[in-house]
Amino acid sequence: MGNWRDNVRHVVPYVPGEQPQKKVIKLNTNENPYPPAKGVDEIMKTVDSDIFRLYPDPECMVLRKAIADRYNTETDNVFVGVGSDDVISVAFLTFFNSDKKVLFPNITYSFYTVWADLYGIDYELIPVDKNFRIHKEDYYKENGGVVFANPNAPTSIGEPLDFVIDILENNKDVVVIVDEAYVDFGGESAVELTKKYDNLLVVQTFSKSRSMAGMRIGYAIGNSELIKAMSDVKYSINSYTLNQVSLKSGVAAIEDEAYFKETVNKIVATRERVKKEIKELGFEFPDSKTNFIFAKHESVPSKHIFEELKKVGIYVRYFSAPIVNEYLRITIGTDEEMDKFIEELKKIIK
Ligand code: PMP
Repeated sequence: MGNWRDNVRHVVPYVPGEQPQKKVIKLNTNENPYPPAKGVDEIMKTVDSDIFRLYPDPECMVLRKAIADRYNTETDNVFVGVGSDDVISVAFLTFFNSDKKVLFPNITYSFYTVWADLYGIDYELIPVDKNFRIHKEDYYKENGGVVFANPNAPTSIGEPLDFVIDILENNKDVVVIVDEAYVDFGGESAVELTKKYDNLLVVQTFSKSRSMAGMRIGYAIGNSELIKAMSDVKYSINSYTLNQVSLKSGVAAIEDEAYFKETVNKIVATRERVKKEIKELGFEFPDSKTNFIFAKHESVPSKHIFEELKKVGIYVRYFSAPIVNEYLRITIGTDEEMDKFIEELKKIIK
């Protein structure tokens, strides 16, 4: 027996939500229940497989141009990756290279600690308060970087731009990453602030508000120096990240602003209705600014509800970690899906 096992890098991985390979009502991974924009369909119908002979453009220029136009900025302010997971992972590797601790809330996207551990980045988890609120003053001390999701996940709480500005004003010497995966459903975006603060990186995704989780497209907007540094790291790992189809369909998705608004508005309207209905059933939850609700029932344990819903083919997300294990994260689906969800919920909690 060789000793190769002694040299294996052991990590505790992020656990993604289940992707059942059968038809279910899927309210467990914050996907969008509506199809992508029509233009994406057109791309899929017209793609000629001959384009696969060649590597895709390593600079991903067509997509960066479309994103830059949408956000009224330049291509050298835009970085793209294979989902925002890829983008944030590259950002961690690029910007957190000091011996000081990177700060993030103790309740937030659980991938942050996984990347930090993988890359050997020291970090401190700052507790949120009993209402799951992040206190900006906790992030004013000396640190090696700041990361938070706004709106936060899985809590669904959105903080106003003043909150982001105050954190930036108190953190001029480190990179501040704001993960805006859910911002389009009611949050306040910090993209405009990237013109003023050269240390701010705002990350967004096509997975939620643009119905493209399966295509894997994420992006960051920031000062060109930040983007160049990330790009150098990316070219040191894998130059050809986005494939030919992702590049083309991403452009089609971001160009259809009318459809984007229409589907986001539909999801927000459904969310507001579901909030009212589940409140009447005895659920409590923070006010959601996202495409999900983070809720617990006054008497029935979340794990029980999660398991019973699963038996009838309705998947929601249950996290086993302390504090969050009292809650369920329920993605907003179509009106029909949510009607069925509420119907089954009534039977479980009666
Ligand atoms: N940030 C947050 C807060 C998320 O919830 C998710 C989705 N799991 C992501 C980033 C990553 O999304 P994607 O890689 O699909 O862009």
